[in-house]
Amino acid sequence: MTVPNLTLNDGHTIPQLGFGVFKVDPAETERAVSAALEAGYRHIDTAAVYRNEAGVGRAIAASGIPRDELFITTKLWNSEQGAATSRGAIETSLETLGLDYVNLYLIHWPRPDLDRYVETFQQLEQFKAEGLTRSIGVSNFHQPHLERILAETDTVPAVNQIELHPAFAQRALREFGEPRGILTEAWGPLGQGKYDLFGEKAVADAAAAHGVTPAQVVIRWHLQQGIIVFPKSSTPARIAENFDVFGFELTADEVAAIDALDRGQRVGADPDTAI
Ligand code: NAD
Repeated sequence: MTVPNLTLNDGHTIPQLGFGVFKVDPAETERAVSAALEAGYRHIDTAAVYRNEAGVGRAIAASGIPRDELFITTKLWNSEQGAATSRGAIETSLETLGLDYVNLYLIHWPRPDLDRYVETFQQLEQFKAEGLTRSIGVSNFHQPHLERILAETDTVPAVNQIELHPAFAQRALREFGEPRGILTEAWGPLGQGKYDLFGEKAVADAAAAHGVTPAQVVIRWHLQQGIIVFPKSSTPARIAENFDVFGFELTADEVAAIDALDRGQRVGADPDTAI
């Protein structure tokens, strides 16, 4: 099973399929990440605010997998935005992960009310120059937030990590970012289980046609559009299932039928107002 690598705008590559650990209990994280690494995942998405970076780090250390075969993302939490606090945040994350560098460091939310995301991104540019992170990007940024980063800093974010699933396909934001070199990462790719995505006819029909599960269909839908995706599960069988998505391909009609489920339905917070 080969996960495609996508090339970021700074020349580094990222495995298109990874493993997300939002809401994985800190006490369970080492076990879950070990299961993911065992299943073949080499890309892990965590964040300081998930409070499970230590478990991610322990699983990495125990795996014996060479560091250069792993792609590790973590994120700067809102309260740490700004020139005074962001360096301490990345240093704490690296220490907690037990790593010398992360592959990708993201501003977790824009928090436009604070108006510190531009100066924070300039700090991330410095962290990249120092080798604390290989690549830098943003998360939950809307077009006006991206426009300010593009106008006021020297680096195009490598990615924008946004809520993205069939009922919330984010076409306009993707069409803004992707031509400018900003790859899209999907969070909540399975809708976080907050609506009956797997019961949608378009998803269920494709699953039946290919003899796969609805979750595998939805992950394929992301992959076939060039989106980077890292579904979360704490269950080893599902962790393996979500990685086993390279033995079939959705037809254009199946993709179109799932595309038609877009109804602008968020399951998470709105970045313009999230605090
Ligand atoms: P998700 O859409 O991946 O949903 C996870 C839930 O789906 C699980 O709890 C489980 O109940 C269910 N599930 C997983 N695999 C399944 C399967 N094979 N069959 C049936 N049900 C299955 O939601 P998520 O965890 O929120 O998103 C993925 C990752 O995105 C996170 O773990 C995190 O790394 C990242 N994320 C980032 C942000 C952000 O603000 N940047 C926000 C949320 C999540």
